[in-house]
Amino acid sequence: MGSKSRNGIMKGKVLMRIYFDHNATTPLHPDVAASMTRVLKEDFGNPSSVHQYGQRAKAILDDARGAVAVLVGAEPAEVVFTSGGTEADNFAIRGAAEALEPAGRRHLVASAIEHEAVLNTFKALAKRGWQTTLVPVDARGVVDPDRVRAALTDTTALVSVMQANNEIGTIQPIAEIAAIAHERGALMHTDAVQSAGKIPIDVAALDVDLLAISAHKFNGPKGAGALWIRRGTRLAAILTGGRHERSRRAGTENVPGLAGLGAAAVAARAKLATEPLRLATLRDRLEAGILAGVPGTAVNGARDSRVANTTNVSFDGVEAESLLIALDLAGVAVSTGSACSSGTLEPSHVLRAMGFPPHRTQNSIRFSLGQDNTEAEVAHVIDILPGIVQKLRSLTGARQPASARH
Ligand code: PLP
Repeated sequence: MGSKSRNGIMKGKVLMRIYFDHNATTPLHPDVAASMTRVLKEDFGNPSSVHQYGQRAKAILDDARGAVAVLVGAEPAEVVFTSGGTEADNFAIRGAAEALEPAGRRHLVASAIEHEAVLNTFKALAKRGWQTTLVPVDARGVVDPDRVRAALTDTTALVSVMQANNEIGTIQPIAEIAAIAHERGALMHTDAVQSAGKIPIDVAALDVDLLAISAHKFNGPKGAGALWIRRGTRLAAILTGGRHERSRRAGTENVPGLAGLGAAAVAARAKLATEPLRLATLRDRLEAGILAGVPGTAVNGARDSRVANTTNVSFDGVEAESLLIALDLAGVAVSTGSACSSGTLEPSHVLRAMGFPPHRTQNSIRFSLGQDNTEAEVAHVIDILPGIVQKLRSLTGARQPASARH
């Protein structure tokens, strides 16, 4: 028997392939694939060209810009395309730091649970003389706005707090934090890479100045994203060159990728009233099944204020990397936390910031669901997980906990 079926066939047995790692990246929505394919085949023009080929490409960008604007409740002219979330975060932080430095604002504030795109940009700027402050989170993984208030000074240029965390899914009180930042004259940036397309976003209600998104986290392509910049915000360009993107970001635009971003934004918005509910039902079933079926498990982070698709669970006495590999061999793709740090044995900086002891920062697995996941897949994982965990515990001689703990 071959091994090439869609589900994969191992020694005559069908291996159910299950993808539970949508916070790392997502498969394309069918409309995205169709739109990108058409643009790749038919619309090769440069959007800066005056002729018909260029104008067709420009119209594709206009449509995509409009779709992104609708997704976040903004004006199209405020949307600047980027190569993804990392560039959008860099643009927001470095752009604000450079623009506000002459006014004596050389201090930057972020939460301790930001993505590396923010944390490592802070580190790079700290090496060049900017002051940086990381605000702690509570044990639920939520930023306390009062801690942000305490961190601010009259020299703070920018506050950067993510809307939803990539590892545990918790949603942060962005509007409250933005009000505090503005009281001190600082700009407010939010990394909405893990929330865009998953919860409704309205930049006016959030009261932010800058908001970053990335297409591949909501069924769009990799390498396409955007930074929303409130009209009138002072921000230096970090990519200089031609006058693309209203001179905010130079470089010939990635037209097929951005067509994909636009199509993904349309598709995500169309499903916003239904898909989060479907995913929350699946996620809650998975979570309840794990807690009931595998002793010594607990959910990490606030369960009441999370994006619908994410759960992060710790397994007592189990090395997360070993569980990830065992699940992969069983056909189930999960993650130990942020994709950028998996493959290393670094404990999660998010769980560490929540005050978890070392063993708990290294025994946690993120399950993140998405468009193609089904009840049958959830049931299958609930079914196989107890045996896998028990085997790993017996291999390492870990104590088998008597009962599930919540
Ligand atoms: N911010 C967050 C919260 C993320 O989860 C990610 C991706 O993992 C990024 C930023 C980076 O986005 P991109 O992969 O588009 O560069």
